[in-house]
Amino acid sequence: MAPTMGALHAGHVSLTQLARAHAARCVVSIFVNPTQFAPNEDFSKYPRTFEADVEKLAGAGVDLVFAPAPAEMYPQGFCTSVTLEGPAVAGLEDRFRPTHFSGVATVVAKLLAQCGPDVAVFGEKDFQQLAVIRRMARDLDLPTRIVGAPTVREADGLALSSRNVYLSASDRAAAPALYAAMRACAARLATHDFDSVLDEGRKAIAAAGFALDYLELRDADTLGAPDRARPLRLLVAARIGATRLIDNIDASVGVN
Ligand code: AMP
Repeated sequence: MAPTMGALHAGHVSLTQLARAHAARCVVSIFVNPTQFAPNEDFSKYPRTFEADVEKLAGAGVDLVFAPAPAEMYPQGFCTSVTLEGPAVAGLEDRFRPTHFSGVATVVAKLLAQCGPDVAVFGEKDFQQLAVIRRMARDLDLPTRIVGAPTVREADGLALSSRNVYLSASDRAAAPALYAAMRACAARLATHDFDSVLDEGRKAIAAAGFALDYLELRDADTLGAPDRARPLRLLVAARIGATRLIDNIDASVGVN
């Protein structure tokens, strides 16, 4: 299965293709989960394109769309949630969205229990989320294999996101600078000290017109402090206009 919040794009469709490579049938859930949005976030204006989503999924060979109503997911009296540590408190998204991952983990646990899939596919686009869900599945002995899918990008490097519809024309023109800055950083990590590379990357992102939330280099498995000899991930979150973008890339220097 592939859990989504709808407003589907080619990134979501790629998850269904990967799911179909692992399983005979594929379920896609569409649920804009209120508990993962903070009160100041975009829950009410999050893009909702259900009819077009269903058409896209039919074209992609998806067998079932599961689109529960909020009251079905959170009936009166609902009072249980998943508490997280480890990758969920790594000081990345959690610094800016402190209640987000508990909302995500709780709804994902419910969706997995409801659908009972052998495999669930999540995008590397939300890298910290993928790490949180992998850890939860292991810790709670969930009988579903969690599979990560590579990020699908526009030709200019911008990662596809349902929130890209918020970008004005000038924001959209500036947005690929985020991926370009990460690529430039990753190319320098092998030969320069991490802090100076990150400093330059932060300056480049600000110079491109972004308000930076974070640009960090982390251990790709634990999201803890980076070690040259281990797989590394560069993660970024930055705001441009009214839109907050997140992205990440492989930045390993000592492996592969
Ligand atoms: P969302 O609907 O934004 O909650 O995303 C649903 C799933 O699609 C998550 O596992 C995301 O990581 C994944 N996803 C979102 N954007 C992309 C992308 N550009 N490439 C691959 N997967 C993505």
